[in-house]
Amino acid sequence: FKIALSSNCISRAFLTSSFIRNFSAQIGSKLEGKIALITGAASGIGKETAKKFINNGAKVVIADSQAQLGQETAKELGTHASFISCDVTKESDIAHAVDYAVLKHGQLDIMFNNAGIACHTPPTIVDLDLAAFDRVMAINVRGVVAGIKHASRVMIPHEHGSILCTSSITGVMGGLAQHTYSISKSTVIGVMKSASAELCRHGIRINCISPFAIPTPFVIDEMRVYFPGVDDWGLAKMIHDNGVLKGAICEPEDIANAALYLASDDAKYVSGHNLVVDGGFTSIKNLHFPVPYEFKR
Ligand code: NAD
Repeated sequence: FKIALSSNCISRAFLTSSFIRNFSAQIGSKLEGKIALITGAASGIGKETAKKFINNGAKVVIADSQAQLGQETAKELGTHASFISCDVTKESDIAHAVDYAVLKHGQLDIMFNNAGIACHTPPTIVDLDLAAFDRVMAINVRGVVAGIKHASRVMIPHEHGSILCTSSITGVMGGLAQHTYSISKSTVIGVMKSASAELCRHGIRINCISPFAIPTPFVIDEMRVYFPGVDDWGLAKMIHDNGVLKGAICEPEDIANAALYLASDDAKYVSGHNLVVDGGFTSIKNLHFPVPYEFKR
């Protein structure tokens, strides 16, 4: 009877602790009291991450170049979200967004450099549109560098902080997107590694997340050009059909979960890392995209 009672107590204790663990992941306490700034959070991955961070106790500043959508998103996410207009190609906008977060909340614990675009440009290297290349690099790379610079400015004196940057599987493998986007995303990984070599001395962690394709607005816009006859549902299906992990599709919440892990103390010894969230795609080299990035003229 004693054994039955104690094993019953153990299993109840186990169930209770696992319930508490699950419950705390749901209502979330992983970022209790933390202040986060997320660029490109009016929509897609950034918005989903803002929601996840808030549900885990953080206050989030949404920085985006789309003012109306950004304000609507902040309103939708509630009182722990605020919006600041920010074009990441302008260093002064990023500096201002960082200062706004610190003035409003007294600190900055998490900086997520997430804003990014693709740009319709001929896919061959010989035909590369260098003006489009400069536009994409200004947002996807220079915007990230400026974000790291200004977040570090306010984090270094406190000797703590977590910086995240959105790269992509197209930055891990060639041939998945046109050169401009691919180059910009592989550069983000290099930028993160370079910064991590210095920031570790200040107790600041910096990491990248490299998502698989997700049908968010800019991806659908880009694909419409290459597949004019296909509706948005068909384009989203095309993306999901290229995933390799049976029984799952890649969604913004999968990236938000990765961001939550890297931003929280669960990853307290993780820095200089590129967390690939692709269901194994880049390990398999299994590309079925029909035509858009074929390198023929
Ligand atoms: P999205 O279009 O839903 O969101 C991008 C956000 O960035 C928008 O809110 C947009 O207004 C903002 N933005 C664009 N230019 C800006 C600028 N100059 N300054 C400030 N904000 C700006 O797309 P998403 O998929 O959520 O993209 C987020 C990040 O994820 C991007 O860096 C993208 O390259 C990366 N990514 C996306 C995918 C995917 O398949 N969706 C895959 C890998 C990586």
